[in-house]
Amino acid sequence: MRNQLQLKKRRVILGAMHKKKERNPFLEKQRLLVIAPHPDDEVLGVGGTIAKVKAAGGKVFLLVFSAGDLKFYDGGRAVPKETRKKELAKIVRFLDIDGCDLIYDDTDLHLRLDRLPRRDLIAQIERESAVSIDKIKPTAIAIPAPSYNQDHTAVFEAAFTAVRPHVRRFKPFQDLVLVYENPTLSWNVRKPIFRPNFYVDISRYLDTKKKALALHGSQKREKTHQCSLENVIDLARVRGKEASVEAAEAFMCYRFVT
Ligand SMILES: [Zn+2]
Repeated sequence: MRNQLQLKKRRVILGAMHKKKERNPFLEKQRLLVIAPHPDDEVLGVGGTIAKVKAAGGKVFLLVFSAGDLKFYDGGRAVPKETRKKELAKIVRFLDIDGCDLIYDDTDLHLRLDRLPRRDLIAQIERESAVSIDKIKPTAIAIPAPSYNQDHTAVFEAAFTAVRPHVRRFKPFQDLVLVYENPTLSWNVRKPIFRPNFYVDISRYLDTKKKALALHGSQKREKTHQCSLENVIDLARVRGKEASVEAAEAFMCYRFVT
């Protein structure tokens, strides 16, 4: 059931973003751990932020929970898990991610993470993954918002538990805890759905986010789909306007200690 795959970081610099260094003393110090239920969630919610942290000289690690064979409603298109793993490896290279771990590549488990004891998911985040909190000692963590997608809700609940307050000398502590957005959140019975109170200006990294999303080619959707490239860019521009910048990624901040 469990199959761990570590995507080793390769020192391949792609894209223009690494040429333009970002002067940002706050981001420069960060070790950001992004927790994603599936490959592509990291780009949809945090792609621009990852690029910005890296350009500032910070570190970024990525823990992805599940990639399995998929069959889309869009004309019955089938996507094998190997394709998704290859796309994830491309993202790791393109965004120059410092370490990535895919926990499960079992199709029977894909979209059934809610079937697993929450304790097992928490253990991956806290101790067992190659990019666990214990091993990476992140200063900041980005976790997915709960949604109609059962995997997203299962991962949110486990991650929220994993970053609970505790005595600092016994366990690495994350001073910044952010919940990130997904374009599908508008379909949700929870109120409030997603109320951002933390923005990252990604005006200079919108193009990088766009290119990164294109690397998840198997997930490409038609223009009118919530997760289409066009909608992701539109959403970044709307979030930007909320913060009076050109483009932004929005978060719900659950903890910020300084
Ligand atoms: Zn997902």
